[in-house]
Amino acid sequence: MTERRDDDCLFCTIIAGEVPTTIVRETAGTVAFRDISPQAPEHVLVVPRAHYPDVGALAAADGDLLVELIRAAHQVAVDRGVEESGWRLVFNTGPDAGQVVFHAHAHVIGGAPLGRIG
Ligand code: AMP
Ligand code: ZN
Repeated sequence: MTERRDDDCLFCTIIAGEVPTTIVRETAGTVAFRDISPQAPEHVLVVPRAHYPDVGALAAADGDLLVELIRAAHQVAVDRGVEESGWRLVFNTGPDAGQVVFHAHAHVIGGAPLGRIG
């Protein structure tokens, strides 16, 4: 499950338990933890345990794992109490989107009006 690890990757070290974080949910293939710099009252990152640099690489390599990740994100939204009020699932991908950690991750954001994007 975790063979795909990059020793220089922050999220790989978090998944390995080598950097303290607040984990809110785990599945066989994913880990969800609080964003260290929340942009809304609820801000959780959901990551595959296996290292892929972005969501496009994950989708191309393992679609089942991407579905598992999205289901985990939905369950986080339910658990955090924002399913009814609304939530946003964001995959920043590449420089123009401001991606800074190159391990695929979904932001689950909610708990307040988020403004319109897209
Ligand atoms: P992105 O711009 O999509 O690459 O976002 C990376 C996210 O990782 C940012 O929202 C950061 O606040 C978050 N982040 C960075 N370091 C940590 C950490 N040690 N624990 C939790 N979240 C982090
Ligand atoms: Zn990684």
